[in-house]
Amino acid sequence: MIKWPYLPQDLGLEIVKSEGAYLYTKEGFKILDAAGGAIVNNIGYGREEVADAIKKTALNNTYVLPPFLTPEREELLDELRNHWLPPHLTRIHLSSGGSEANESAIKMAIQYQASRGEPKKNIILTRSLSYHGTTLNMTGISGHAARKRGLENYVPVAKTIETPYPLRCPLGSFHPDAKDYYLKNLKEVISHHGAENIAALLMEPVNGSSGGAIYPPEGYWKEAQDILISNDILLIADEVMTGFGRTGYKFSCEDYEIKPDIMIAGKGMSSGYAAISGTYSTDKIAESIMNAGYLVMFHTFAALPLSCTASSAVLKILRRENLCEKVNPLGKKLKQKLIAELGHHPLVAEIRGKGLLIGVEIVKDKDKLLSFDENERITDQILSKGLEEGVLLYPGGTGEYRDIICLGPPYIIGNDEIDLIVSVLKKTLNYIQAKYA
Ligand code: PLP
Repeated sequence: MIKWPYLPQDLGLEIVKSEGAYLYTKEGFKILDAAGGAIVNNIGYGREEVADAIKKTALNNTYVLPPFLTPEREELLDELRNHWLPPHLTRIHLSSGGSEANESAIKMAIQYQASRGEPKKNIILTRSLSYHGTTLNMTGISGHAARKRGLENYVPVAKTIETPYPLRCPLGSFHPDAKDYYLKNLKEVISHHGAENIAALLMEPVNGSSGGAIYPPEGYWKEAQDILISNDILLIADEVMTGFGRTGYKFSCEDYEIKPDIMIAGKGMSSGYAAISGTYSTDKIAESIMNAGYLVMFHTFAALPLSCTASSAVLKILRRENLCEKVNPLGKKLKQKLIAELGHHPLVAEIRGKGLLIGVEIVKDKDKLLSFDENERITDQILSKGLEEGVLLYPGGTGEYRDIICLGPPYIIGNDEIDLIVSVLKKTLNYIQAKYA
């Protein structure tokens, strides 16, 4: 009998304990979690302060209907508004995970357009490489080929713009006109579908699992948002992976100096201590939906008091210990060491990213940027070898560009962990190189 998971996985492990930045297997093996789980854990595992707060809340308010206010909810709302959210995003809708929060964001965008007399504006543009979640709608509209397999005939077909990908720009790698090329594509897609039919563009400010820390050319997003505004199209930023300090900013949109109309966060919002996510919008959007008499329905387990408490406790720790301020210096050290040790490696096409979201793109032929054959399952091999050597890495990439390793450790790592990540990654890449030489 197969005990767990539903479908057996190559990387099956039994973890009996996690503490700080480390996982411990049943056999007593210690693994550095360079992936923060699924790029979730920012403050480290096993914090007593968070556990105590959750226990207190479980006894005080076990379950309360999501729309009712409770002290636990109020504490989180104050924490988010006073210390984290961009000031223009005043309205907060809570759910349990990133997919649910993205679904809510799309409902809000479509309902907003309908409420202002634009019911035809109901296309949600997404990007050719992107990941927004695992519900059927998110599976369909995300640009993550591997996660659609067997569902292509059922899920909605994504209407996409090209994801700016400087390394693989069709004009040439890091081409000086890359920004204009991708902006032209945005304009063409808008004109193809008709601005009068488009509600919003949903984007990840930095690609996570669909690409591994891909950044657009400098200045792209500022101009892209101007194009959206002039076409009366909303901007929805999915900061599920990037939110709460991961890339060195509270939210990555700050980096581009853009103001999304709706923003989504999850993962780091609770560092994995409880299931919680948020959809944040402007007053204008919420008021318009309300005035039309529409509902933004809640999920039964949305805003559970104990999830709110876990999130407040985690966010307070981030602030008290100045952990977000440590992300940039740690990330710089890690990236510099990676570049020094692996930048010239024949299988490494690019080492990219900011803060503690770093991507390493692996290719068979560096000059031609040719990927390995899909059947070789290079990323899986790297992940397995990494685990054998005591480091959990995260898989990025999909479709044609599938061999990308993501690093997203907790913000509490030090020099020893940086050294271990780099040396293990080097060993795994040398192993692959030797195997396919
Ligand atoms: N959006 C982004 C950018 C993500 O990285 C993820 C998960 O990896 C999701 C949405 C989906 O979140 P969840 O798995 O919590 O539903």
